[in-house]
Amino acid sequence: MKGPAYDFPRWPAWELFRTHFRRYGLKAIYKSFRYTIRRPFSRALIARHAPRGRGVEVGVGSQSIAPLGRTYLSDAHAGHAGQTSLARLRADAWKLPFESGSLAFVLSEHVLEHIANPLRALREWHRVLEPGGALLLFLPHPARCFDRNRERTTLAHVIEDERAGVDDADPTHLPEWLERVVGPGLAPQYADLAPEAMLSTGSIHYHVWGPEQMVELLEHAGFEIRETHETVPDRNDSFAVVARRKVS
Ligand SMILES: [Zn+2]
Repeated sequence: MKGPAYDFPRWPAWELFRTHFRRYGLKAIYKSFRYTIRRPFSRALIARHAPRGRGVEVGVGSQSIAPLGRTYLSDAHAGHAGQTSLARLRADAWKLPFESGSLAFVLSEHVLEHIANPLRALREWHRVLEPGGALLLFLPHPARCFDRNRERTTLAHVIEDERAGVDDADPTHLPEWLERVVGPGLAPQYADLAPEAMLSTGSIHYHVWGPEQMVELLEHAGFEIRETHETVPDRNDSFAVVARRKVS
């Protein structure tokens, strides 16, 4: 299969240990084993919908639940909040270096909410998937994260973002974020970050979706929904939606 030059690890289990050891150290690696590494529910979900073939994890960050031996790890940023990204491909989520219809799956965990123009990204993920290919999305549940005081984003809003061609530097999403999240101290990790830096690093949650809004958005982008999970048993702050590119 053609694709960008990429050095897939020959020993995925060793790669998993090595990359997480670098981040956590030996003691912490044991403590974080279940929630950030083992993730039995989430890995099983991926294995069920993407049992074979190569895929991409978009916005991988510093940890991954992807099958590393056949997943291109991609990220637009070299790091997030001081943690080095595992990515070996640097690419924007809406401009991936893959041929159309060439991937068996697209995986993304806590990323779409950091993209100012989510429809542009979803159309790109749809493009690179083969017919029947799986889209596996893990997203923060607004009821269980610092977005709890925000309105959920409507489909009309996201359609307007696409029509206007907004990108991550777009400042119109910032005031509501500052008022509802940073101001009340719900996300202290952002308190020391200048607002411009929040945008340039894509670290704000531009939008807020629960499972229902995400299903509506994915269907609008042409995906067929396979499964939704209001809760992710091995990641408490999340919900999950699995969709696929339609076969015909
Ligand atoms: Zn928006």
